[in-house]
Amino acid sequence: MSTRTCPCGLPLSYDACCGRFHAGAAKAPTAELLMRSRYSAFVKGDTGYLLRTWHPRTRPERLDLDPRTRWTGLEILDGTDGSAFHSTGTVTFRASYRGGSLHERSRFERVDGAWVYVDGDFLE
Ligand SMILES: [Zn+2]
Repeated sequence: MSTRTCPCGLPLSYDACCGRFHAGAAKAPTAELLMRSRYSAFVKGDTGYLLRTWHPRTRPERLDLDPRTRWTGLEILDGTDGSAFHSTGTVTFRASYRGGSLHERSRFERVDGAWVYVDGDFLE
């Protein structure tokens, strides 16, 4: 994978993809793009973005990422609703890291027009 490719796996540069959401230049228009940008934020260690895109109801006080985790890829497996015309949605994904992977169905809601992460269920 080229260093110019966005960590979320879309064939775009980081700046043209999740980077513009991290920088606050744009808001993710769909639940899936928010999910992708949150994965990229884990890769980049951007805890500020992760907290900003967490529902106020479920957001932790603080977030400590393990800097030893080496994320290796994201696969979007399924999704429901979550488009510009919805106010809730789910995204099912597998996020891989060196030594394992995380399989989760995440719930998203729109708060003041912006998609935020609510919570998720681990699968299998
Ligand atoms: Zn991206």
